[in-house]
Amino acid sequence: MRSLEAEASPLLGDIESVLLEEARIRQRVQELGHQISHEYKDLDPLFVGILKGAVLFLSDLLRAVSIPSTVDFMAISSYGAGTKSSGVVRILKDLDHPIADRHVIIVEDIVDTGLTLRYLLDNLQSRKPASLRVCVLLDKSEQRQLPVHLDYVGFSIPNRFVVGYGLDYAEHYRNLPFIGILSPEAVQRGSR
Ligand code: 5GP
Ligand code: MG
Ligand code: MG
Repeated sequence: MRSLEAEASPLLGDIESVLLEEARIRQRVQELGHQISHEYKDLDPLFVGILKGAVLFLSDLLRAVSIPSTVDFMAISSYGAGTKSSGVVRILKDLDHPIADRHVIIVEDIVDTGLTLRYLLDNLQSRKPASLRVCVLLDKSEQRQLPVHLDYVGFSIPNRFVVGYGLDYAEHYRNLPFIGILSPEAVQRGSR
């Protein structure tokens, strides 16, 4: 069997630099889980994971949450491929259950312009939850177009296109255990 390192190397070659190491992410996600557990004690929060980017973050976050809680998923697609989001959002998969009177926490991978999150907040707010908060792993605020309040933030990052730990480029790189900056060559190549 080939070693894991050898398996991963074709992906690693496309990474210009590592922005957030695996251990650093793990530590921060633990902190967020503990904070949420403290603040939502007795509230039985509902985590709404936004597919697919938030899947790795959500699964690690859930393991760091020690209070009763439930999970649901939404899948959305921002029109426009490549590295820019257009803000025109389409729901590919809606929640399985109503959220009325639930304490909802949206779990997102990254907020850039804020267009996607603004849409999600308006959409979920109209379903009358008891409360609605946002937990985002990465805040990339330099290009923010709409003001959105982020209740829990993993890391603030510079305006670079990042991949790994759930985040993709043309659906690849989600399986990298760290967050890295994609090399311009890999961006130009378009997809693997
Ligand atoms: P926004 O609508 O805030 O501009 O963008 C949100 C969505 O765009 C994210 O959920 C993510 O899918 C995508 N996105 C924004 N910046 C990045 C980035 O640096 N890397 C990756 N992989 N996706 C990004
Ligand atoms: Mg996302
Ligand atoms: Mg994407």
